[in-house]
Amino acid sequence: MTKKIQAVRGMNDILPDESFRWEFFEQTIQEWLAAYGYRNIRMPIVEQTDLFVRSIGSVTDIVEKEMYTFVDHLNGESLTLRPEGTASCVRAVIANNLLYASPQRLSYSGPMFRHERPQKGRYRQFHQVGVEALGYTGPDIDAEHIVMCARLWEQLGISGVRLEIGTLGSVESRALHRERLIKYYEGYIDVLDEDARRRLHSNPLRILDSKNPGMREINNGAPKLIDDLDETSREHFEALQQILRNQGVDFEINLQLVRGLDYYNCTVFEWITDRLGAQGTICAGGRYDGLISQIGGKPAPACGFAMGVERLLTLMAECGKEIAPPAPDAYVVHQGGDAFVFAWKTVEYLRDHGLKSILHCGGGSFKSQMKKADASGARFALIIGDDEAAVEEVSLKPLREATNQVRAGLSTVVDLIKI
Ligand code: ATP
Ligand code: MG
Repeated sequence: MTKKIQAVRGMNDILPDESFRWEFFEQTIQEWLAAYGYRNIRMPIVEQTDLFVRSIGSVTDIVEKEMYTFVDHLNGESLTLRPEGTASCVRAVIANNLLYASPQRLSYSGPMFRHERPQKGRYRQFHQVGVEALGYTGPDIDAEHIVMCARLWEQLGISGVRLEIGTLGSVESRALHRERLIKYYEGYIDVLDEDARRRLHSNPLRILDSKNPGMREINNGAPKLIDDLDETSREHFEALQQILRNQGVDFEINLQLVRGLDYYNCTVFEWITDRLGAQGTICAGGRYDGLISQIGGKPAPACGFAMGVERLLTLMAECGKEIAPPAPDAYVVHQGGDAFVFAWKTVEYLRDHGLKSILHCGGGSFKSQMKKADASGARFALIIGDDEAAVEEVSLKPLREATNQVRAGLSTVVDLIKI
């Protein structure tokens, strides 16, 4: 036998028994975004590698170890499958001059690619819904993003998600903090692990994000960003907290929040659950006031966040959110030449009247067709023999309710199904 071709490791098929949950999610997302006035933008999945290196930062896990980068052999360009959406979104906004007249509330969704070790809640192709507000200084827009997440969790039937907020300060206060961190870690140069030593001068903030328990003690003693925070950032952070309190959104302050991407400054936040084990962050974001100019646009402030769809869907299931699988209204079984012709007429008539109908295909006895009708989840079987066809009637048999089978013409059948 010919060898089977496997899917790429960490990249999953989403099968019909599961995809209806995705559809429910996507529909909820669409209505939720519309309720807040966010408009959809669709970017390519492949970008110039340099876009991600310059925006996410060259000394980050994503750029150092996780990107799917390849050379386009037709022209020698280095391209990368997008590991996240913000960089592409900002590139598209700049390229199309979208900030020319007014700020923009935008959103996108789709697959992202990171070469990580696949495990529960962590895949190599995964999906994000991202929200970006460009041209807004905040903190009102920062708060809007957090408040809209809180509303979405409710709509998705999710509970027990914790919100952590922090601030990274202005670009200038980050620079000051960076200097102090370098000085501090230089004092421990002999005990730093390899990653930390490598990042010491290029990206000392990243050291704080280390997952190595051996680094914990040194990290705990490191200079705190809050001590280097400038007055404007401090006020911004206070104002954000005040809006969240006004809106009744609970939060914890976590000044160690670093985030895995370099472009963040000022407000950062994460929504975290304990129900998904180690992969507990379902949504994360913050401000990125420097990014637009960093990749060639006219300077403009911005804020955004992205959520992991797979993790959210798992969490919805953990929280007991029930989503009914889609079922047809009617399954039409038929036997006989005239019945066949009338069965076609019947299903199209039902569809004309907004009813979901399946026409039995492939023949077989009434009994085996009825089994298929039942398995389809349809509320009704419509039975057509040549007798029925001769007078343009069908027998309507309820499959889920204890009511009687009736025989009627098509318009009556539509009325009966719609009751
Ligand atoms: P983590 O700390 O779990 O690696 P991250 O900080 O790398 O997350 P972000 O870049 O902020 O994640 O992406 C936003 C969201 O996308 C995450 O909160 C998570 O829900 C989801 N996500 C990120 N990487 C993956 C992945 N490999 N598989 C599935 N979901 C992911
Ligand atoms: Mg990660």
